[in-house]
Amino acid sequence: MKRKRRLAPTGSVRDELTQLGRGARKSLGQHFLASAETAQRIVALAALRGDERVVEIGPGLGALTSILAATARELWLIELDADFAARLREIYARNPNVHVVEADVLRVDFGELLGTGAPAVVVANLPYNVATAILARLIEQQGCFARFIVMVQREVAERLYAKAGTPAYSALSVLTQVEARVEPGLRLGPGAFVPPPKVESEVIIVTPYDSPPVPIDDLAEFKRLVRTVFTQRRKQLGNSLGQICDDPHRVLAQAGVDPQRRPETLDLAEFARLSAAQRLDAG
Ligand code: SAM
Repeated sequence: MKRKRRLAPTGSVRDELTQLGRGARKSLGQHFLASAETAQRIVALAALRGDERVVEIGPGLGALTSILAATARELWLIELDADFAARLREIYARNPNVHVVEADVLRVDFGELLGTGAPAVVVANLPYNVATAILARLIEQQGCFARFIVMVQREVAERLYAKAGTPAYSALSVLTQVEARVEPGLRLGPGAFVPPPKVESEVIIVTPYDSPPVPIDDLAEFKRLVRTVFTQRRKQLGNSLGQICDDPHRVLAQAGVDPQRRPETLDLAEFARLSAAQRLDAG
């Protein structure tokens, strides 16, 4: 049941900001999509059928919003900037399927907001300064979301989907990939935004798993181990593991991991084995 797409008329970003009597707020990571065509390409990555519940974080001037409002069954807009929230409330006052929530997304309880029902799809051009915190918080709210189509700084995107043994592979890669599948989407240069950011951007598609893709008994302990060894990325595990266990060599032997290896070379399954061996060793 696809509804006809109607794009709200969008003036230039600068005109719209002038109408509001203000500029972009750097502290809120405000870089607005410059063209409706780019917004269409981003929403296309969400492959919406028309019957989904959708959450947009940081709708701002609404470049993605007008497309989403015409496609989603129900749309929640979470915006921290009071001017934009007020403007969106006005624009969508007559659309009962669009809900404007003026709030810091990091404080929203989505279980409460969305209630029961099918998991929602998140589509967002995230504020880059808090993008990883937002993503981690959303993934954590298990059962609320089916997938995320989010724009982040390209360097962060590359860390999120990096594989073991590549330069971008980090604690963030492991901690994210153990909870969700991360796929590259669309790359955009600074010129796609007003004002242009100093960095390149990338849309990624993140799909949370129902359960981790490798066997993990205690996720909190697993995360602690990963964070600890990556704080000393260049150190061999035989040395860095000593921070969290009495006999690193015994634990590594139990896990079948060479003590001379560095954390950046271990894949998810090896980290899972290491975590299990550490728990066993701690008794
Ligand atoms: N969606 C718009 C677009 O693509 O043109 C604007 C994207 S802009 C990169 C980020 C948006 O997130 C801004 O509208 C900003 O006000 C909003 N924002 C920043 N921090 C936020 C937070 N903690 N919670 C909710 N919205 C936030």
